Formats: sequence, structure tokens, C-alpha cells
Amino acid sequence: MRHKNKAIFLDRDGIVIKMHYDRNFGIIDTPISVKQIEFVPGIFEFLRAAKRFGFLLVLISNQPAVGIKKISLQTHKEMKTYITKTLQSHGITLDGEYYCLHHSYASISKYKKDCVCRKPKTGFFMQAVKDYDIDLKQSWMIGDGVYDIIAGHNVGCKTILVGNIIEAEYLDILEKKLEGIKPDYLVKYISEVKNLIEK
Ligand SMILES: [Mg+2]
Ligand SMILES: [Zn+2]
Repeated sequence: MRHKNKAIFLDRDGIVIKMHYDRNFGIIDTPISVKQIEFVPGIFEFLRAAKRFGFLLVLISNQPAVGIKKISLQTHKEMKTYITKTLQSHGITLDGEYYCLHHSYASISKYKKDCVCRKPKTGFFMQAVKDYDIDLKQSWMIGDGVYDIIAGHNVGCKTILVGNIIEAEYLDILEKKLEGIKPDYLVKYISEVKNLIEK
């Protein structure tokens, strides 16, 4: 059976919204409130261009923070709504949104499981294929993490690793973690991705 649509699968944190820098603790982490959300520069232009090129936009995100009680389900929902609405106000509608709230160390039993949807597992990709009739070979996974690239590679998508820190040492670490899988492209900024997918 042939699938007819092509998609851009997007990681959320570090791709659509920025990772949050906590001044008090000097650490960079996933935003944990609406107040901490800032969109990645160039993301709106990129997503609008991807739509023009005929791609569906499908967000696939690991969000274990609810299960480990770092944020409430309510806060998670508020953040999700805020992101969706802000994108809409910039003329962008996500075609699909899939959030994995599970983690094997979750303290809330409902979320404590070794699920099939947490990247690098590919459950949500397969679900999206069914939901949106997606041809994975014509599709891309764009992420800033090793799990994004492994998952995208394993389902047969082309992969783009967006890494703000592209230095020799960092690349060495990445290469080890990727276990021999190479992203098709490695870029520093999301604005560079547009030219890659246009071809
Ligand atoms: Mg990320
Ligand atoms: Zn899951």
C-alpha cells in the first residue's frame, strides 16, 4: 500500500521552543511553565515554508515531567495550548501532536511504564502513518537530541540534527550516543533547514 502524504516530524523542546536557561542554577532544561516558553528564532518562517512545500507538520515530544511530578498535568496542558495558539497566530496549524508522558522512573503509576511511544521508540511515528497516511521515506525528523535522530532513522525518515553547540568534542559524544547512526544533516540553526527540505 502506498502512502500519499509527506511530513515533517518535529521535536518540541529545542526545536519549536527554546530550552530554558535557569539563571539561579546555571542549568539548561525543558521549560516548565508558560512563562518560560520562548519560540526558537526562525521557527515560524520555517514551519510556514514547510507547509508551502506540501509537508504535514507532526509534533512528537517526550514529556516525562508530568510523570515524575516536576509539573502538573494542568501545567502541561496550558503549555501545550499556549504553543498551539501562538503557532496559529503566526499562521501555522500543526497537523498532529503526540506527547509521551511516560517514563520508566515516573512516580505517578499511570505514567510509569516502558511504553512504545517514548523516543527513540517509534510508536507515535507508526500511529501518525495510520492517522495521516504518511510516506516515511519522503518525510523528515528534525530534533536536537540523540533519541530524535535514532527514532527518525529507524522508521526510515531523513533526519536533521539541530545542534547549537557544534564543536568537535560535542560531536564525539554525539557520535558515541548515536551508536553508528548518522543524521543526514547537522545544522546549527533551524533557519538552515528550509533549504534542505526544499530540494
Ligand atoms: Mg529536544
Ligand atoms: Zn509513552
